[in-house]
Amino acid sequence: MKKIFFLALFLTMSMTIFAQNTYIFCGKLIDTEKGNIKEEQTVIVKGNKIVEVLKGYVNPENSDDVIIDLKDKVVMPGLIDMHVHIESEHSPKSRLEKYILNDADRAYNSVKFAETTLLNGFTTVRDLGGTGVNISLAKAIKAGKITGPRVFTAGKSLATTGGHADPTNGSSRKLLGNPGPKEGVVNSVEDAKKAVRQRYKNGADCIKITATGGVLSVAKSGDNPQFTIEEVKAICETAKDYGMHVAAHAHGDEGMQRAIIGGVKTIEHGTYMSDETMELMKKHDAYLVPTITAGKEVEEKAKVKGFYPEIVVPKALAVGPQIQGTFGRAYKKGVKIAFGTDAGVFKHGKNGKEFGYMVEAGMPVVETIQSATITNAALLGMKNELGQIKKGFLADIIAVEEDPTQNIHIMEKVVFVMKNGEVFRKD
Ligand SMILES: [Zn+2]
Repeated sequence: MKKIFFLALFLTMSMTIFAQNTYIFCGKLIDTEKGNIKEEQTVIVKGNKIVEVLKGYVNPENSDDVIIDLKDKVVMPGLIDMHVHIESEHSPKSRLEKYILNDADRAYNSVKFAETTLLNGFTTVRDLGGTGVNISLAKAIKAGKITGPRVFTAGKSLATTGGHADPTNGSSRKLLGNPGPKEGVVNSVEDAKKAVRQRYKNGADCIKITATGGVLSVAKSGDNPQFTIEEVKAICETAKDYGMHVAAHAHGDEGMQRAIIGGVKTIEHGTYMSDETMELMKKHDAYLVPTITAGKEVEEKAKVKGFYPEIVVPKALAVGPQIQGTFGRAYKKGVKIAFGTDAGVFKHGKNGKEFGYMVEAGMPVVETIQSATITNAALLGMKNELGQIKKGFLADIIAVEEDPTQNIHIMEKVVFVMKNGEVFRKD
């Protein structure tokens, strides 16, 4: 009898929870589809979905519905960062950590990084490379075991021998080994196909290649081309078979061109992009992911003695200051921009700084927010679920205290975060 009573109570309670709607009163609401800001709107959330967006402040129908009052806030869809490294954060210890950390250590570290990212308004991220812990992290977040953004991950980045993401760069010869496709190092068309299929098998959502040298790897060049065009093509065609797109880290112009012609969807950083390459981007419908914040960070940290290994310093000083200017030129030329920061190169949670840098370089405020929402949602194959506050979309909703068109730096101070209908932050 007692059992039946509790069962009945449980059913009633769960039905009540199920029936409960959340009414969010929004003083201002950014419409990322139309590119304007609406006043006094009510967003109704049921479960993990937005079921209605109404004009004015509409009172709930049922007494157990919940009201969230954001009448003095500016509400917008959850932000999407297309370039983070969620399982790590760069520091002077990074070079050593490569040899002393176990996957479990990385996993525990990444819990904090994921939480910080979400609490700062980034409800979805594309993770562009780690050790493979990122795949487990994405799964754990999805299962609700830990707090973090929705993660689309590349798993381990693909490089060529000695290339930017060769995992044994900078090691003593004893430890250099001979990493191959399984470890993400490819040196032929056959290797390229195998490495992509291996990422699919491991559970990656997309593919990342390091098309040119990079700043933080312990290697001489920060911009040399590192793949043949045939290798890039093999990677992109194979990725397509598995429903994955390809992102290419690229600073130098030659490697960038090979990547674009080879079929990658996004160019990360794009530092030394020529006018000709910008035209190529438009022709091939490729997007630039600016990562200006990372550029500023490496430039600044390169001036701190001992922060980076010596071989990294001249690269950081050359590449870092170029990125913002290139972004400005690309934007003005009509290259499509996908918001992305390279968080992990700098502290997680500071992703919102990118907005200020983008505006400084000439992109209008609302367009920067569209880039971080509607544009990125489409690139992730989620254009009908993410990036807008609209009926039928997933309830990823954030708020700030001031109108970002008046003060863009307010994007660094998110005060409300809902992901998938669940409130994670309400200051
Ligand atoms: Zn990166």
